[in-house]
Amino acid sequence: MAYPRSLLTAVNSHGHIHLVVGANPLAAARCGQSLAVGAKPILIAPGPANQGELLPAALQVRVDAGEVRWLLDNVAFSETHLETLGREEVNGFVDAVFVTDRDHVLAEEVARACMRRRIPVNVVDRPDLCSFALLSTHVEGPLQIGITTNGSGCKLAARIRREVASSLPTGLGEACARLGALRRQIQEEDWRKEKTEKTTVTVKKDSLQTARTTCATKAPETTAKAVNGLSEDDSYDQSAAFNQLVLPTTKNDAESAKTRRMRWLAQMCEYWPLKRLAGVTDAEMETLLEAYATQGAAPAEDDSQRDPSDPSDSPKQGRIILAGSGPGHPDLLTRAVHQAILSADVILADKLVPQGVLDLIPRRTEVAIARKFPGNADAAQEELIEQATAAARAGKTVLRLKQGDPFVYGRGGEEVLRLRAAGFRDGQSLFVLPGITSALSGPLFAGIPPTHRDAADQVLICTGTGKKGKPPQPPGYRDSRTAVFLMALHRIVGLVAELTDYTAEEKEKGETRRMLWPSSTPCAVIERASCPDQKVIRTTLAHVAAAIEQEGSRPPGLLVVGRACNVLHSPVTANSNGTITSKPWSLEEGFTSLDLDSISPAGLASLA
Ligand code: SAH
Repeated sequence: MAYPRSLLTAVNSHGHIHLVVGANPLAAARCGQSLAVGAKPILIAPGPANQGELLPAALQVRVDAGEVRWLLDNVAFSETHLETLGREEVNGFVDAVFVTDRDHVLAEEVARACMRRRIPVNVVDRPDLCSFALLSTHVEGPLQIGITTNGSGCKLAARIRREVASSLPTGLGEACARLGALRRQIQEEDWRKEKTEKTTVTVKKDSLQTARTTCATKAPETTAKAVNGLSEDDSYDQSAAFNQLVLPTTKNDAESAKTRRMRWLAQMCEYWPLKRLAGVTDAEMETLLEAYATQGAAPAEDDSQRDPSDPSDSPKQGRIILAGSGPGHPDLLTRAVHQAILSADVILADKLVPQGVLDLIPRRTEVAIARKFPGNADAAQEELIEQATAAARAGKTVLRLKQGDPFVYGRGGEEVLRLRAAGFRDGQSLFVLPGITSALSGPLFAGIPPTHRDAADQVLICTGTGKKGKPPQPPGYRDSRTAVFLMALHRIVGLVAELTDYTAEEKEKGETRRMLWPSSTPCAVIERASCPDQKVIRTTLAHVAAAIEQEGSRPPGLLVVGRACNVLHSPVTANSNGTITSKPWSLEEGFTSLDLDSISPAGLASLA
């Protein structure tokens, strides 16, 4: 079967005039796409927008910023727009038209007028009126990847695009820019050499940088024709000559040095694993370039013939992985974090990282646990950062293991900023891996769904302890809100007081607009969630402080407040074993949720 296909092209739209018809969010998106490729969008917004109705905010912002020209004085689209609004050098014809308005009559009129003038036109939802379609694109630096299913489904195209993009190594866009600059530099140098017939070339230390800046402003002087198999047009594949053997040579002529340098670059692009190409550094390229720039003297090692994928090529680079270890049970580690635990050279763990997780660390691995005790959190943090950077600089893989998720009250963001400032780069020498947060898994293991239709439609994760020990601003009450408080149990009396009444300060300032939480609001205290000694207390705000006082506390623990607490558990009147309790709370101890293997067939039968 012959499927419909399109000619995929990359249109150089710099300075082009694009006419966008319609005043809707799609028109805003089209203007954005147009601007991103250096074109100038002109907006014709027939209908309501011209009769005083507002433009969509995203469009208005661009109009106000002067990025989009809005033809306010024209109520309707006119064919003359197509011939008068464009660039002078194309006799005033516009370069492309995007119809985003779903008015059939208008769409038909614009499209036909464009087709008669051979102006490329795209009409939303009307493939029969389009002379071109836009691709689902992934953009990274100069790298653009476009996907079309030729009308088989735009959602599918977007999904495929995401899948393709996610399989690419990080930094590939930057690598394209870097390799492109290098290629232009080689071409320029060769051209200059040819012109002056000099026999030696000196490569200055800052040459790559210079090449990059000059190339940005000035086209290379070499022709766009293929040079040694490299071409300006991405549709060319390798030529048959590509694999011709380039012998190590001592021949002292400009021609062979030229061939070798370009061939080296071409082979590097062809053979190096993409991941390796994406990680290529300026320094690495300088070295290779310098070796090849010295004519006649063959480099110590002949790179054009060497297996370029050999990782022993580059010195081992250290890196830091910031990862979350989950709430406690080792089965709640992600595979990525488990892998990191097994492969790290050094592990720097926060003191809350549970024993079950620490037990997984191989015996050979160096481990340090943060010496964090009350009052020295900042110093301990500093110490860990110093240890991590020193080890990574010595070429080691360092795992900074945090409890729960590193970005949920874990100071993970602060650490990333510190490490970036110390020269570590995201996705290259600095990685962050998520963990299951106690804020959501704690309630789950206590049978509390933080959101539940008709009971809770929002979840708030808060801290009970503010900076420098000051109580944070208490959240307002909403009957459909579940609030989860971390780091709060040590000051439960104060927290309950702040939730159920205004603080003295608020009263003094007359700030009494915050909605207060009724003392009857259900709540639960969950301690050591997912650990063998997990403990859950179910009660209401009125009794929670007394319950903790009486039952004792086993850190770490959290407080969940809201109607969600009673969705899967009826309000407290009975203990989990069914006996009526005299206390206005219930207590459950132990954790079996992950003992799936231990549920025997007999046990399962008894559940049936
Ligand atoms: N990054 C962590 C939170 C760090 S703040 C996370 O995403 O889970 C530390 C607080 O987390 C503790 O004071 C406690 O409120 C809560 N916490 C951590 N582990 C817990 C657990 N196993 N059970 C209950 N609460 C826990």
